[in-house]
Amino acid sequence: MNNGSKFFFHSLVYPKLRMEKKVKEIYLLLETKTGESCSVMLNAQLFESEKLIDCFVVQDSQRIIHTKEIRAINVALEAALAEKTLLHEELLNVNQELKRYAETDFLTGLNNRRIFMEKAKNVYESYQDEKRIFSICIFDVDHFKFVNDQYGHLVGDAVLAGIADEMQNFFESTATLARFGGEEFIVLLPDNDKEESLKRIEQFRGQVKLKSWQDVSVSISFGVNTAMYTHTIDDIIIGADLALYAAKRWGRDRVVHQQDLEEPI
Ligand code: GH3
Ligand code: MG
Ligand code: MG
Repeated sequence: MNNGSKFFFHSLVYPKLRMEKKVKEIYLLLETKTGESCSVMLNAQLFESEKLIDCFVVQDSQRIIHTKEIRAINVALEAALAEKTLLHEELLNVNQELKRYAETDFLTGLNNRRIFMEKAKNVYESYQDEKRIFSICIFDVDHFKFVNDQYGHLVGDAVLAGIADEMQNFFESTATLARFGGEEFIVLLPDNDKEESLKRIEQFRGQVKLKSWQDVSVSISFGVNTAMYTHTIDDIIIGADLALYAAKRWGRDRVVHQQDLEEPI
């Protein structure tokens, strides 16, 4: 040590070491045998029982290199973390997209049958205790095979997509809408009893009949059923389907409620 550092060490560093058992980041100036100055940083710890001072001395020039290395590592870590966050977000987006694909009917953008069944079961279970009312309507485009045969499948597709758009515009956001299969759709109307649901579906029937897609108009037959908690949700849907078949039998282009069948379930 040069004289200044010696004085500094004995008057300040050593007493502090005795008192606090350790010192950190003490800057000292050492001298080499050839008289060149060498600036260092010292950390030291005192082990009294062993009469030992453990010193860690780093040359300043080395310290700068270490600091630079640490900074570079930090920058690399931050970049890696940012990339990880980005990848995680991408993964979340992809998952969301996959979920949407799995739940949505490709042609119409409506819920698919599986998701409709899940949602209908949820409504049924949450309404069951209070016996809250809801109605389900299944409907099927009349003579749709003729549309395909006459105008081609693409026009048929446009008609199905158009009907789905009408559904989305017409029904309240609380209704659950789905494509149930082929040219069959299904709607769950929460808090609608027999009269309310029949009125609403009748309006929808009239409205869709006036529409045309690529100059093609269609009529639709509807089967409605209203929740009775003596039946399971599957039975309620089967009841709506029976009403739909009655609507077909009785001349199509009409709305039939399950309770109005000759032999209601
Ligand atoms: P009904 O009045 O008794 O319902 O007669 P329909 O001709 O509509 O009944 P059917 O079940 O015989 O025909 C339904 C047709 O719907 C047959 C099938 O090719 C067609 N279809 C089902 N899914 C699609 C689709 O995604 N796009 C098109 N273009 N046609 C479809
Ligand atoms: Mg059909
Ligand atoms: Mg049909």
